[in-house]
This record gives sequence, structure tokens and C-alpha cells, in this order.
Amino acid sequence: MVEVGYPSAVDSPIPLVIVQGFLGAGGSFLWGAFEDYLNHNVAPDADGNICRRRIIFANVGPVSSLHDRACELYYELTGGTVDYGEEHAKLYGHQRFGRTYPTALYPGWSANKPLHFLGHSMGGPTIVKLQHLLKTGLFGSAATPDMILSLTSVSAPFRGTQLVYALGERADAAPAVRTFSIGGALTRVVHVLSYLSPILPPALDLHSESRHLSFRDVSITAFWKQLWKSDWAESRDATPFDVTFQAADEREANGEGEPNPSTYYRSYVARLMDAPPQRFSIPSLTGYVMTLSSTAMKSFKFQSIYPIPHFLRGNGESPPGIPNSPLLPIHGPFLGIPSKTLIENDGVVPVFSQDHPFECGAAPCTHSICPARQKSGIWSVKYLENANHLSIAPIWRGSAMQIAFWKDVGNWLQDIDHTREEDDVN
Ligand SMILES: [Zn+2]
Ligand SMILES: [Zn+2]
Repeated sequence: MVEVGYPSAVDSPIPLVIVQGFLGAGGSFLWGAFEDYLNHNVAPDADGNICRRRIIFANVGPVSSLHDRACELYYELTGGTVDYGEEHAKLYGHQRFGRTYPTALYPGWSANKPLHFLGHSMGGPTIVKLQHLLKTGLFGSAATPDMILSLTSVSAPFRGTQLVYALGERADAAPAVRTFSIGGALTRVVHVLSYLSPILPPALDLHSESRHLSFRDVSITAFWKQLWKSDWAESRDATPFDVTFQAADEREANGEGEPNPSTYYRSYVARLMDAPPQRFSIPSLTGYVMTLSSTAMKSFKFQSIYPIPHFLRGNGESPPGIPNSPLLPIHGPFLGIPSKTLIENDGVVPVFSQDHPFECGAAPCTHSICPARQKSGIWSVKYLENANHLSIAPIWRGSAMQIAFWKDVGNWLQDIDHTREEDDVN
């Protein structure tokens, strides 16, 4: 999608950028008719024109790290050649520069002309990372975190998920991946697609050019080596590591995810009820798989993770079987997180991880009961009951839950726009 010729004045209503999750590349085709409900509250102006909120689908690397995705998101909106940063590129052994976007999706994006953002799954932490990079200067002194007016997340793994270990990430030695695992198989698919990328359609674009993995860049021998042990997937610069609890801990220790005072934050948290699927059927295949996955996640042995995640650190007793650990991961009280919250999930991400970065209290937040007028700099957390990771996005079903969700987001964004207009007047 290419948008051209926008004036430098603030658009009204302010556009919404949608950032998709892991493997997400379907865009508006899959997301469907949500715009009708997002704009349910748009009234005609004095001339009788109805001005709907513009949607910008971002196209970032579907298996790339949060850092790489955030850089691609920035340059797609502003135009220009993707610069992953000299230091980052050296550290992770890929090219500093990626593809060039000759046309900006949003010319003049700035603190005075900000954007709304919505991220599903990994899209949520991608926006948090983008805001962190805006704040810490990767994009130059003109870029500021105020360029993100609002951040709405759906089923976002801000603090990691245990599912990544079930899929193949080594719980005791991340980012290593078990060779014979779903994650290991997926890694090989990624390398085959990257190798063939010059001749594949855009829907299979992995944004891997900075890694020089295509048949134009590497020999067949090098390709086979990567299939056996992937330098990309088994690095700290890829999606699998970024959703480990260890990586989330490191981000929080670095201050990443601290709310920006003038940004509005809302997370929609999906949680599945305990009821097992009654009977298998093709139409409910997604729900069936999500419920099975949810059950498996609840039995995950948190004590197998090393280093022990921050949210499990308790009263200083050593748990059995954990070497050199002064911490208490699985018995007794959890620091800041009740055990029920620890095991509740949406089939992909635990509930506590979907809430917001940091523990409640460390991050200013309100849960469930959202005030009529939300303040900026505070996470407003809303729960979607009996919902799974795919209930809202990316596939449009026209369900009552999806319709209610998009109307709610429409109200929320309109409320922020109005608050901003009032502030401008005063
Ligand atoms: Zn990178
Ligand atoms: Zn909270």
C-alpha cells in the first residue's frame, strides 16, 4: 500500500498503523471488514462528508527480531533505506542497511503529526521496541517517542511466552534451538524461502536481504549448512529468542517498555476458559488447536527455564534441581504475580505477559475497569473472556467479539483524538 501527497497538516482522524505478528503478512486481505466497525462512530462533517480513519498496514519481517522489525517499520513510514544501526549490525553479523522505501507511507511523521498504532501478537512488542528506539536516538535527534500517540495491543507477548520452549527453543540454553522440533523445522522453511526469495511472490517476503541468504548471495554448501544449524534462528536477533522470558527480562532491565508520558496505552488480553473442546470439527479447528495448546502451556515446568525469569523470583529459597539459583520459581508466592495469572493464557501467550511490560505497580496501569477518559502514560488493560490468540486477528470472521472489539477501539481512538484537539485549543 502506498500513500502519496499527504499535506503536512495533521490528518483528521489520525491514521492507524497496524503491525502484524509472527508470520503475519496477510494484511488487509485477511483482516477483512474491520474498518466498518472501527469507524462506526464517524459522523458527517458540516459538508456531509464522512471521513473514515485511514489504515496503514505495515510490512515488516515476519520472523525477524523486534529490533529489525522496528527499524523496518520506521523507514517504511518515513521512506528511505532501512538502517539497522552500525553497532547492532556488527553485533549480530548482518548488513547494516536493508531495503529502500522510495515512498514514505506517512510523510512528515513527527511529534506534531503523530500516529496511532495497533499490534497483534508480536506486533505489540514491535511497537514498544520502535518507541524505545525513537527515545534512545537510533533514528536521530528529530525522532521522539511522542510520534506514537497511542499503542493498542492484542494478545501481545510483552514478557515472553513458554510456548517458544515447547516449539524448540532450549529452555536452559536459549537462543539454541532443538534440531528435531517444530521450531527447528520452521527454521528450515525460513531458510528455503530466503534462499529462493528473488523468485518468490511478495506474500512470502521475509525481509532477509540484509542477511545475504538467497541463491544470488550464497553457495549451495553454505545453504545446506544453514539448514542444519541456522545462524539467524539460533541467534539473539530473531523472533524466537525475543519471545523467551530471558529476552523480556533483558528488555525490562534496559528500561524498554517504560510508558512515555504523552502516549496512550491499551492492551486487550485474551484468556481461554478451562473447558476442553467438546468435539473436533473442521470449522472450529483453530479454537480446537488453541485450546489444546493452552492446556499444554498450563502444564509447562517453569523450573526448567534458566536463567530464571524475573517474574518468578521469590523469597530466596533454592528450588530443587536448579543449580546455583537463589530463587524460588515454582513453590510459594510469586513476586507480584498470582499463580492463577501465571498459567492463564490464550493458547499462545500467558495472560500476565499480555497485560503490559513490567509488573503491575512498576508500570502504571488500570485493569478491567477503564475510566471514561483515559490518561496518557498509563496502561489500560481490558480482558477478552473465552478468547484465544486468533479470536480478534488476523482472520476476519465477523464474530460478535470482533465487531465489539473494533467498535471499542474506534471509540478509544476517537476519544484520544478529541482530547488532543481540546488540548490544542487550550
Ligand atoms: Zn538485526
Ligand atoms: Zn497492570
